[in-house]
Amino acid sequence: MSTYFKDGQYTKQSEMKISVDDRGYYFGDGVYEVIKVYNSELFTAREHLERLVQSANKIKISLPYTVDQFIDIANELIASNQITVGHIYIQVTRGAAPRAHQFPGTEVMPVVVAYAVSNPRPVQAITNGVALKSVEDVRWLRCDIKSLNLLGNVLAKQEAHEADCVEALLHRNGTVTEGSSSNMFGVKNGVIYTHPATNLILNGITRQVVLKLCKEQGIEVVEESFSLEESMDMDEFFFTSTTAEITPVTSIDGKLISKGEPGLVTLKLQEAFTLEIPLILAGK
Ligand SMILES: *Cc1c(COP(=O)(O)O)cnc(C)c1O
Repeated sequence: MSTYFKDGQYTKQSEMKISVDDRGYYFGDGVYEVIKVYNSELFTAREHLERLVQSANKIKISLPYTVDQFIDIANELIASNQITVGHIYIQVTRGAAPRAHQFPGTEVMPVVVAYAVSNPRPVQAITNGVALKSVEDVRWLRCDIKSLNLLGNVLAKQEAHEADCVEALLHRNGTVTEGSSSNMFGVKNGVIYTHPATNLILNGITRQVVLKLCKEQGIEVVEESFSLEESMDMDEFFFTSTTAEITPVTSIDGKLISKGEPGLVTLKLQEAFTLEIPLILAGK
């Protein structure tokens, strides 16, 4: 039986109580993070939690815990749930109050929930690659906030799944932005292209690790948007996220990319990423 954290208490999941008046439930009025656990240790936790602080600031929620306190909570969940490989989920809502769109009074405290999940690295997808389906990006203009409001993402992922694809390739009017829960990269003539970190995408921590690895490996990166049409013509394509790591893309809308196999630049980055995990865990 897994242990959850809520507002300072560790409770069995079956005994967790959340108010029906929680603004997360009514409005998706909150923010969240997913932090990977390898070898029972948090991976890039500080980067994720600093982004949580930024997301919360952008929607004017003041977090009741510091980054260090969140790290302690996450480590407690890893220990009590005996997680070796998996992730920590943390969400903060604006709190529980009778339903009204405007913020409640300052006496209403944010509600913090966190739990740990055991799940292995997605070896199959990482090794063989996956299919993408292009979907129009109809989300709002603050995609830089990791908000609980995920309807646009949910509908896109569902559309991809119904087409037997693992992820949606989101585009605004033909310009590729990101995935429903991942960042997209194309490789052409040895150069990596990815959408710049603007309000139109969530600047993934894995994205930032990959950009750092590219620099170290001497791979040129151009942070410029590209079109859906250009995507189809890339030599290689991949996407990144905390749980997906670096997942190769072998087809887009049924058209094969890099002959339907993970490309060489993608493989090189995957290898560098796997080697980087113990270094980052050791704080190097
Ligand atoms: C979380 C998320 C990502 C990936 O971010 P990571 O920090 O690498 O996990 C990308 N896009 C969206 C929309 C996301 O919600």
